Amino acid sequence: MIVRQLRLSLLAPLAIAVAACSSSQGPVDHDRLVNADSEPANWLTHGRTYSEERFSPLDQIDASNIGDLKLAWYHDFDTKRGQEATPIVVDGVMYTTSAWSKVQAFNAATGELLWQYDPEVPGETAVKACCDVVNRGVAVYDGKVYVGTLDGRLVALDAESGDEVWATLTVDQDKAYTITGAPRVVKGKVLIGNGGGEYGVRGYIGAYDAQTGEEAWRFYTVPGKPGEKDGSASDEIHEKLAGDTWSGEWWEWGGGGTVWDSIAYDPELDLLYVGVGNGSPWNPDIRSPGGGDNLFLSSILALRPDTGEYVWHYQQVPGDQWDYTATQQMILADLPIKGSERKVLMQAPKNGFYYILDRETGELLSAEPFAPVNWASEIDLESGRPVITPDAYYNKTGKPWLAMPGPLGAHSWHSMSFNLQTGLVYIPVQELGFPYIADTNFEPKKVGVNLGVDLNAASLPQDDEIKKQVKAGIKGHLLAWDPVNQKEAWRFEHKSAGNGGVLSTGGGLVFQGDAEGNFNAFNASSGEKLWSFFAQTGIIAAPISYAVDGKQYITIVVGWGGIFPLLTGEVALITGERAPKGRVLTFVLDGTATLPEPEALVEARSAPPEQFASAAGIAKGKAIYHRSCGACHGDSVVSGGVLPDLRYTPVLQSADAWYAIVGEGALATNGMVGFGEDYSPEELDLIRAYAISRSRESQ
Ligand code: CA
Repeated sequence: MIVRQLRLSLLAPLAIAVAACSSSQGPVDHDRLVNADSEPANWLTHGRTYSEERFSPLDQIDASNIGDLKLAWYHDFDTKRGQEATPIVVDGVMYTTSAWSKVQAFNAATGELLWQYDPEVPGETAVKACCDVVNRGVAVYDGKVYVGTLDGRLVALDAESGDEVWATLTVDQDKAYTITGAPRVVKGKVLIGNGGGEYGVRGYIGAYDAQTGEEAWRFYTVPGKPGEKDGSASDEIHEKLAGDTWSGEWWEWGGGGTVWDSIAYDPELDLLYVGVGNGSPWNPDIRSPGGGDNLFLSSILALRPDTGEYVWHYQQVPGDQWDYTATQQMILADLPIKGSERKVLMQAPKNGFYYILDRETGELLSAEPFAPVNWASEIDLESGRPVITPDAYYNKTGKPWLAMPGPLGAHSWHSMSFNLQTGLVYIPVQELGFPYIADTNFEPKKVGVNLGVDLNAASLPQDDEIKKQVKAGIKGHLLAWDPVNQKEAWRFEHKSAGNGGVLSTGGGLVFQGDAEGNFNAFNASSGEKLWSFFAQTGIIAAPISYAVDGKQYITIVVGWGGIFPLLTGEVALITGERAPKGRVLTFVLDGTATLPEPEALVEARSAPPEQFASAAGIAKGKAIYHRSCGACHGDSVVSGGVLPDLRYTPVLQSADAWYAIVGEGALATNGMVGFGEDYSPEELDLIRAYAISRSRESQ
């Protein structure tokens, strides 16, 4: 015990010395990124280290003094869209992003805004984004800050001035590609993928020279048309393996497999790990009618960072048809599994199983459910394949499949944290079922999502008792998970789903924001809630911790948004009061800042006009609404608190004004494009009829 105390007292000044001298270390280079864990004062890359643990060793703030944790500074953004960024902190400077891919640099101790950058993403890009106009953050390397913009550019900024150094267009802007993920830099190459798996794109990840922006390699996650090579790093494995796992004319549909979030790197093995998304369209009868595993959908890929060369893959959901992505955070760790120390990769993807792979070979070591799951009874360790429930194949049975989890996942991009002291992984878990029903009249549309799944049939019945039951079934909790024994250690129940990402610290604390707008701290061992701060808006992003001049800070970016409130509407509304804008909040022991009183969000409510359509017309309008509008404007025309509630818009009063917006795109620069290419003026006016009926029902 004495020895232990002595070591601690010797280490304490050392930790402060690290914090103090970090500013003399020069720009972030490969060595600093590889050794990021040895700089507790900094948060150098998205998951803090290449292993993406999201664990800060800082221990100044702990259970004994958490009551003194107060606001140090805050910064208001210019938007009330969703905020998902993880800030980066390098030697006292914080770099973060806000919605619409805007970048800010702050003095991390004072909150002074050093510079900001607006990539001027065209508003109409919003319709290509399934899940809000969010951005999850930047990468910093060699004096530059890298951001992927919603419209598909990768931009390098001067870290001192915020001036643009180079910009590379990484996508075909005629297709519905978007970037929301944070870049990573490995060995002088900037890595970024993209989203669009609900819109018929073909997924890939690219590597770009950090100095020039020139593309070094590209790996497509889905094969192209047989016989047509891309000249890319994936050509060989597609010919050898992936091409045979598809059927029909999948290349016409894009196929999906987007790399929209997670990337990890093991410098020792020199392997880059990439999480791959769902099939596009969801319904496999459309994209690959003869079946097949559809590699590399819903897979983890191991690639060489220098060349993009394929090394191994593990597919979680062969032939995915439930939007079960493998894009969730991957954590690299060394763990004793069944008695022997293994280099593992861990992931808690949407599908509800906690996967542990050997990260050298891709061998599946373990997979157990961390949340309620009904689509598969187990993952067979011998074959590595799920034992899928026959009724889950909604395309084959012709019946609805009430799935658990649904497409929003038991866990999505909301970051989890692996605490090296408790050995526990803290996961933001949700219980959100979904009825998958094949769209038997599917026709692809030019604008908006194309799923092959009937979102109208799946919409919330407007019966009060049924609504109550559905809402009661939607839950969320912070789960402490023991990965070695694959079992729950503790949980903290939240009021709803859609809660924020997680940080754990050397002070024995776990930090997480919730959908109601509370930023909370928990005891990492027991789950006891120790502290809470009301942020005035729902929280979905993950906190970070860093130190400046020997003082430990906690920062969280807040702002309600993302897919949960956009899609689910009414069920996401758990608090009435929301701040109009997103914010950066930074906390320190004995901070003295206070937030201004929240402005009441008073939305002008226009009384609905008389109904003009027949019951059949309203029903048709409802079907079109849920086919093309509901994914953003909310189930059954109820806003989940991000976009204006269409039940109360004055535009309902005028067929002409409605058509100018919904048909011709008068508000395209705000993100609301016209749907005149996909629907006739009469059809578009029936959407208005349906919105009027919902407005009258809601009076
Ligand atoms: Ca998806």
